[in-house]
Amino acid sequence: MSQFWSPSVRNLSPYVPGEQPQIDNLIKLNTNEHPMGPSPRVLEAIRAATTDRLRLYPDPEATQLKNAIAKRYGLTPEQVFVGNGSDDVLNLAFFTFFRQARPLLLSDLTYGFYPVYAELHGIRTHVVPVDDEFRIQPDDYLGQAHPKAGGIIIANPNAPTGIALDLSEIERIVAGNPDVVVLVDEAYVDFGGQSAVALLDRYPNLLVSHTLSKSRSLAGLRVGYALGSAELIQGLEIVKNSTNSYPLDQLAQVGATAAIEDDAYFEAACQAVIQTREWLTDQLQALGFEVLPSSANFVFARHPEHDGAALAGWLRERAILVRHFKRDRIDQFLRITVGTSAQCQSLINALKACVRP
Ligand code: PMP
Repeated sequence: MSQFWSPSVRNLSPYVPGEQPQIDNLIKLNTNEHPMGPSPRVLEAIRAATTDRLRLYPDPEATQLKNAIAKRYGLTPEQVFVGNGSDDVLNLAFFTFFRQARPLLLSDLTYGFYPVYAELHGIRTHVVPVDDEFRIQPDDYLGQAHPKAGGIIIANPNAPTGIALDLSEIERIVAGNPDVVVLVDEAYVDFGGQSAVALLDRYPNLLVSHTLSKSRSLAGLRVGYALGSAELIQGLEIVKNSTNSYPLDQLAQVGATAAIEDDAYFEAACQAVIQTREWLTDQLQALGFEVLPSSANFVFARHPEHDGAALAGWLRERAILVRHFKRDRIDQFLRITVGTSAQCQSLINALKACVRP
């Protein structure tokens, strides 16, 4: 704490992301990166763009990238907003849509950045508990169940559980709250969820955010985007242009465009993760773990006889990083990113030595 910090900064409690040790020989299953590299076309495009043109500012509108994203989803470029990772997109969306007199509705078990953005922007929240099976209940987000909402944020599939809502459940929430923005964070949707993008032509209050960090294997490039009605996207553009007109550098723009255009690579890479996830789930269950049903590139699992922190510590001593959250109700769980088959085999071998089936 410093006297130089403005009063609004003094009480902030920022989100602490999973560790990013810059060491090569770790089995890193703690922050949901994709185990395969990005499409070779991405690397080629970035190499080709690494020229003295870097002295120029990038296109502030990221026109090419927006066109590629719009084409992929059958939308217009005016329905696409791009940012420096979806964290950037979410932050701007919170500022643009959720600073209302009424509270923002969010789950008690969801992405840790949401309450932080709310705090940063002075947004009141109404926290909605998940049920006994760690599921979000759509009814809890409909009119009667809560004080009238100023906005709603839902991660689908949810993090850290990996549990997904059906499209019809998302639609009920969006249709039931027509006066406010419902933001559906689909960071993990490509690993088996149903995307709400299919609803966009019917609901001007729906905003969907995506990232290239997970299914496109580009966490290092920092690109995310939001899809919605032109009205919502225009609001985001105004706020973006009032803070940082150039959130995406030239290399990120060309790399992301190449990634979006290489659907064949993307689909094969997602399928590989889904297959390994099923294998990993079976193996963990055989060791006595309870594994929540995951539609994401990670699993959330607990062992009835072993403490989550202790298991994470045991793995860490064997150079395997997984995520443990020191929080009520989920203290027993590990969140394990689906890595390569070899990485997942090493994880299972290490757990076998600790947990008796
Ligand atoms: N939403 C959710 C639910 C996430 O888990 C993450 C990644 N930690 C993000 C958004 C942000 O992803 P990125 O900023 O890398 O696009």
